[in-house]
Amino acid sequence: MSETETIAAISTPPGEGGIGIIRISGDQALAVGAKILRQRSGNPVTTWPERKVRLGYVVTAEDDPIDEVIYFYFKKNRSYTGEDVLEIQGHGGYQNLKRILSTILQAGARAAEPGEFTQRAFLNGRLDLAQAEAVIDLIRSRTDLAQKIALNQLRGSLSGVIKEQEDKLLALLVPIEGALDFPEDEIPDLERSKAQKEIQAIRSNVANLLAGAERGIILRDAATVVIAGRPNVGKSSLLNQLLGEERAIVTPIPGTTRDFVSEIIDLEGVPIRLIDTAGVRASVDPVEKAGVEKAYRLMAEADLILVIFDAATPLTTEDRELITFLAEKQPIIVLNKTDLPVKLPTAFFPTALPGAKIRSISALTGEGIPALKAEIRQAIMGTGGSEEQPVLVTRIRHQEALKEALGLLDLVAQGLEEQLSEDLLAVNLRASLEALGRITGRSVSDEIIKEIFSQFCIGK
Ligand code: GDP
Repeated sequence: MSETETIAAISTPPGEGGIGIIRISGDQALAVGAKILRQRSGNPVTTWPERKVRLGYVVTAEDDPIDEVIYFYFKKNRSYTGEDVLEIQGHGGYQNLKRILSTILQAGARAAEPGEFTQRAFLNGRLDLAQAEAVIDLIRSRTDLAQKIALNQLRGSLSGVIKEQEDKLLALLVPIEGALDFPEDEIPDLERSKAQKEIQAIRSNVANLLAGAERGIILRDAATVVIAGRPNVGKSSLLNQLLGEERAIVTPIPGTTRDFVSEIIDLEGVPIRLIDTAGVRASVDPVEKAGVEKAYRLMAEADLILVIFDAATPLTTEDRELITFLAEKQPIIVLNKTDLPVKLPTAFFPTALPGAKIRSISALTGEGIPALKAEIRQAIMGTGGSEEQPVLVTRIRHQEALKEALGLLDLVAQGLEEQLSEDLLAVNLRASLEALGRITGRSVSDEIIKEIFSQFCIGK
């Protein structure tokens, strides 16, 4: 490994905390440490026992103490980044940590870019790309389930399955490419039928991963659920019920929720982004008109729409317009205010929106809310329990690579069937290997790597 710049960053979030952590990684980590750290006695630090916690001081270039700290050292190849790492834990105040960091930078380290520690871990082979992505997913996970899946991926669950398929593809590719180099050794027919079996096995593993991807992506990203309905039907009240606490402002004046309220809830492990739209109604007020247009746009892009009707009033023209718009959308119809005498012709809905689920609730009393929550979860995740499957694909990037690999494997299978020549088989085999390699980072461009790590926080 050639010498790389030594980097440093505050790894804990800004603000007050019991401790604050600063990490230094690179060949000069100890040289920097020797300049800025002193033993408790005030003497310079001369020995760096590995993985041993020691107490000391960080000092300025003029030897003035800044903070009392503990520090420990991880040797190259035995650290997170794969480089020499010195970790310093000081008191967790922003000013304090900022001063320590600036002393470290003066002593020769450079401020780390977002995700640069993990990027180095990847470049040094400590993690593959899917594992590195799992690090940021773990940090950002919003539900227990998402957190569990991210940890599984960090521990190599997805990478392991991909690696197995890569190995099998290589095992097929090597003799074919060998045969290309030595054309007199034709692959016998028997080998072709064996290869066909192998390809089918790989194909089925890739297809299995793809089958759970839509759900996995939702578990990582959150599904968007839009709450729609004309003004005053109880959208804000429902949002509050779903949130379990008062957040949106509820008012009896129609059309007041102009700016959209968006909140994330944890529906038994499924993160759901709830958006309360402005009341959908014909309006001449330009601000409100823009809001209504945006509400329709949000509905068009949503994973699911909850359309609310006021069961205590007859159907209005606005209600009907909304129903027409929703004809193709498979919304959940929510009949609200069922604590009041029902005036809405509810029998109308099954014909107007065939196939849509209907739920009666009272956003005032909470009646029907648990059943509605279960309905939302099922509409998003389906009834299968595949979110519990041990290896789940959770990123569109991985899904795309798998789709591409699957298409190429089909071409290989077809080619084997049609007695296609070895050189053409090899092209598609190699391409499917490349597609899978984009997931683990074995075959991925520098731009993609840069793009992935730029989404990380500084200090990770
Ligand atoms: P939005 O304009 O659709 O967001 O409607 P709001 O949530 O602001 O509710 C409008 C009015 O209806 C408020 O006065 C609510 O208290 C009332 N409301 C909402 N849900 C119910 C309900 O289930 N039963 C009754 N009786 N009133 C409700």
